[in-house]
Amino acid sequence: MVEEQLAARDISDPEVLSVMRRTPRHLFVDESLKDRAYWDGPLPIGHGQTISQPYIVALMTQALALKKSDRVLEVGSGCAYQTAILAALSGEVCAVERIPALFEKGRANLKHLGVRNVRLKLGDGTLGWEELAPFDAILVAAYSGDVPEALRRQLAYGGRLVIPLGDGSSQLLALYSKSPQGSVTRKTIAACRFVPLIRGRGAEGA
Ligand code: SAH
Repeated sequence: MVEEQLAARDISDPEVLSVMRRTPRHLFVDESLKDRAYWDGPLPIGHGQTISQPYIVALMTQALALKKSDRVLEVGSGCAYQTAILAALSGEVCAVERIPALFEKGRANLKHLGVRNVRLKLGDGTLGWEELAPFDAILVAAYSGDVPEALRRQLAYGGRLVIPLGDGSSQLLALYSKSPQGSVTRKTIAACRFVPLIRGRGAEGA
């Protein structure tokens, strides 16, 4: 997976390649999908949601240029595969998931792997996590028409935010960088396809 899907494309950060190599993706998907855990695409994780394609996970992680001291906010942690990758490269991950059953699944997966530097919250991630802000990096794993205001505010000076922007038919992965003085620049990284960012808390599996 790492050689053919990541390094052969534009994933060159050795830390990202290394963590993708050693994180067991098959432990995050259902038993019936294990033989496809390392294929070059997304997979269902229940409740109409998906675990992102390995390449997209790597691309978003690389764009955030994480440091070991960074505090990261993740919106839409699902099965928590991306969470585990972020946790290995940062100081702490604060992850929010709105669907109770996926929140529980993510928590169980992280516990099983022994990942300790993650705080998980059940709720609406479009509101960010006010008490723990600001964040050096923010990753949004679901598409939106624009960047939620709370996330803009909770991004630290010098921070990076990656989010798929668009609608159901066309989306672009965008990287926002806030300078140490507070000015924000935007760069488009790639075309992508995510599930929607939904405001409010979910009831599925409650
Ligand atoms: N990155 C995860 C899941 C990606 S799917 C993985 O690889 O497993 C996108 C996730 O975002 C879903 O779990 C969905 O429930 C969640 N989501 C959508 N809108 C949300 C919101 N407002 N707050 C928190 N999570 C949200």
